Amino acid sequence: MSRRKQVYEGKAKVLYEGPEPGTLVQYFKDDATAFNNQKKGVITGKGVINNRISEYIMTLLGDIGVPTHFLRRLNMREQLIKEVEIVPIEVVVRNVAAGSLSTRLGIAEGTNLPRSIIEFFYKSDELNDPMVSEEHITAFGWATAQEIDDIIALTLRINDFLTGLFLGIGIRLIDFKVEFGRLYQNDDMRIVLADEISPDNCRLWDIRTNEKLDKDRFRRDMGGAAEAYHEVARRLGILPEGGPRDMKGPEVMQ
Ligand code: UDP
Repeated sequence: MSRRKQVYEGKAKVLYEGPEPGTLVQYFKDDATAFNNQKKGVITGKGVINNRISEYIMTLLGDIGVPTHFLRRLNMREQLIKEVEIVPIEVVVRNVAAGSLSTRLGIAEGTNLPRSIIEFFYKSDELNDPMVSEEHITAFGWATAQEIDDIIALTLRINDFLTGLFLGIGIRLIDFKVEFGRLYQNDDMRIVLADEISPDNCRLWDIRTNEKLDKDRFRRDMGGAAEAYHEVARRLGILPEGGPRDMKGPEVMQ
């Protein structure tokens, strides 16, 4: 890693310069943080599993026509991605009430929402990622109205796809967070899915037992976070032991 120039270090990932212009190497750490960095810890093996899960999901999303920054996985902890300009908005989709929505609106965790709800949060550690509306996003120039339209359309497709993917392996997709970037190619710019999709930014509950298979195990000191991430990878058929060619595909639950 020292051979490469570090471009950015986030809470769970590090970005290095890629081998070609317009590419970056995304390195997945085992570090876990919650509550805007107030809680810090390590989930052993998380980086390896998230690298795999995100590779798997981004590849499938690419197959159904969702543009992503993902190019290919390089090794256990690194993947090659396209360099994009990150839109400074966290996009959260919710299918079932949980977390901050439950706290904010007093809706019991686990309540099915009447429809999928999209929320936007401005990416700012100093401000604790405040929730914002489309009005704020366009007024302050964080994204244009057209970009928001593209982001919403992509997010709804991602939600539909992921809901079905996880349902097929006995997991309820409660909510998740995605980030998008601007990919500049020649004179063209388009919005693509960026960052990662993994149990770090999804709420995943076992369909039968409601057992949490995501970062809430770390946030809420429940223990068994590493095992939960491993279980998600196992059900997806992408345990880190096997190479990418050995991927079985998801295990269907009856
Ligand atoms: N989330 C995330 N990063 C954040 C905040 C939220 O990945 O900085 C994800 C979180 O894992 C969950 C969803 O977005 O799947 C909704 O989170 P929520 O707003 O309920 O916040 P939390 O309760 O996690 O603080």
